[in-house]
Amino acid sequence: MKEAGRVSAKALRKTGELVRPGISTLELDKFAENLIRMEGGIPAFLGYGGFKGSICSSINSQIVHGVPSAGVFLKEGDIISIDVGAIVGGWVGDNAWTFAVGQVAPEVARLLEVTEQCMWDAIDAAREGNRLGDIGHAVQSLAEREGYGVVREYVGHGIGRDMHEDPNVPNFGKKGQGVKLKSGMVLAIEPMVNMGTHKTAGPFEDRWTVFTADNKPSAHFEKTVAITDGDPLILTAE
Ligand code: MG
Repeated sequence: MKEAGRVSAKALRKTGELVRPGISTLELDKFAENLIRMEGGIPAFLGYGGFKGSICSSINSQIVHGVPSAGVFLKEGDIISIDVGAIVGGWVGDNAWTFAVGQVAPEVARLLEVTEQCMWDAIDAAREGNRLGDIGHAVQSLAEREGYGVVREYVGHGIGRDMHEDPNVPNFGKKGQGVKLKSGMVLAIEPMVNMGTHKTAGPFEDRWTVFTADNKPSAHFEKTVAITDGDPLILTAE
């Protein structure tokens, strides 16, 4: 899984380096697909449930599952969540990052900073003997203290030979509740945090893209993390 994670992480980092005003989300998608294949992997998202891209590209009020398109161009001040996964040797890696396109408004920069920190706090809770609720609580407590909404309908997940395995990994929950974490479990931990309401809208015509109900921006960060008998081990790392 480290190799699948490495390829996934490299695809995310290198694709993120291309983020700039004027680039289309399809260009980002094609770059990521080529990179994954050059590294000996298979794009995990391509064809998944009929999905047409190798990345999900979710801009501003799009929370997750945005479909790359030749007609969608990034603009100064946008934020874009790029979510990308790779399969190597039958094992899957999955990770996401929300990038600022040029200069963004201070309140948007704050949303990115806090959501990234939610992810780090959640990863730090991914320890043997803790429970799933500890991960969710780590995200929810920080996000709500900042006045943000934590998405309920979409959650992190177990990952291994399949991209989405049990258990679900919610970004909300109570300390000490839920499935006990054991060494050897691997989780995709992925806070989705909205500047406004936690409520979502869609998907609509494209059958994929999920929006915030109030059209305010949303941020999304994800890493694939193994539970060990010591510190959490981030597998989507180069
Ligand atoms: Mg995921």
